[in-house]
Amino acid sequence: MDSPFQRDPFQAQRERMVRSQLADRGICDLRVLDAMRDVPRHEFVAESWREDAYDDHPLPIGADQTISQPYIVALMLQHLALQPADRILEVGTGSGYVTALLSELCAEVYSVERHADLAFSAERRLARLGYPNVKIRVGDGSRGWPEHAPYDAILVSAAASEVPPPLFDQLREGGRMMVPVGPAFSQELQLIRKVGGKAETQSLEGCRFVPLVAG
Ligand code: SAH
Repeated sequence: MDSPFQRDPFQAQRERMVRSQLADRGICDLRVLDAMRDVPRHEFVAESWREDAYDDHPLPIGADQTISQPYIVALMLQHLALQPADRILEVGTGSGYVTALLSELCAEVYSVERHADLAFSAERRLARLGYPNVKIRVGDGSRGWPEHAPYDAILVSAAASEVPPPLFDQLREGGRMMVPVGPAFSQELQLIRKVGGKAETQSLEGCRFVPLVAG
């Protein structure tokens, strides 16, 4: 018999990840849980790391970069309160894992990655897996992607010493941005809302991301 478990041997691991790492720790946005149940995270890591793809920690993706821990990804997505019609900017495509989740949750995803090799392999991977509403560009994401602004939400997957002003400018009024802010080894996740043209900042939990490198 052709069960879904035979078609994707990682399905059961993904179910376990969603239950024990996400739902049991307070992630309750059903759309986020569904997307994380759906996107094949093992496709976004090197062959040698596949068996660890659903473990409770970040993993290397090449070029000294990492794919974030599933819980941190879910927390960022949940706080962004994404809507199906939203247009999103992502800074730091990396493997394209978060890009794939955004693609399921929103209408249009624009993602900027400074490492050309990571950007190209993410682009190929996302096309192969079937995520059509995504555009990736090589460049310095701290400058945003002004041609498609304003964005309903912005997700920054690398740590900034301060919120890059072009990103705040490219957020629409009422829009939300999630960004890790702080020095190299300890940052806090900040949720920033644009209200009356001003930033309202809420600090969430401590985190550790690779640095946002300008230029
Ligand atoms: N969310 C990614 C992980 C991102 S790791 C995933 O799911 O795999 C952070 C990424 O940000 C790295 O790929 C790094 O190269 C990229 N990055 C760092 N500084 C950047 C900048 N200024 N502009 C664009 N990308 C940047």
